[in-house]
Amino acid sequence: MPAAPRPSIAVMLSRGAVRRCPWCGDRRAYFTGWFAKQERCRSCGLSWRRDDVGFELGAATVNTIITFGLVIVGVGVSVALTLPEVPVAEIIVGLVIGALLVPVVVYPVSYTLWQAISLAMRPPSADELVPPEPSPPG
Ligand SMILES: [Zn+2]
Repeated sequence: MPAAPRPSIAVMLSRGAVRRCPWCGDRRAYFTGWFAKQERCRSCGLSWRRDDVGFELGAATVNTIITFGLVIVGVGVSVALTLPEVPVAEIIVGLVIGALLVPVVVYPVSYTLWQAISLAMRPPSADELVPPEPSPPG
């Protein structure tokens, strides 16, 4: 089976940012629930692990970058809006709550974004794209 034309990095990142398969753009991609995922994309058959033992480490790194980025922006905006009387305790409580919620909210997106980065660095070979068997009717 010939490999599909390679999407641009911008297309793959935008697909990954909305939890779609970065390669084919299918919105069913990998996640069957917020945390539940299956091994392969339900459309193009690309495995989300891509035979990388440390794929989850890359996804966790993307999740950490997003979370820390939002915390840093949150600190900057909070301090800028409340100067000169900065309510430090309230800002810390808000940021801790945000730092606990954001990783949960961006969990699936961190996987699809990391896969977009992985695909940009190493496009899939033709044998990685194995369309799944159609499910029997009924
Ligand atoms: Zn796909």
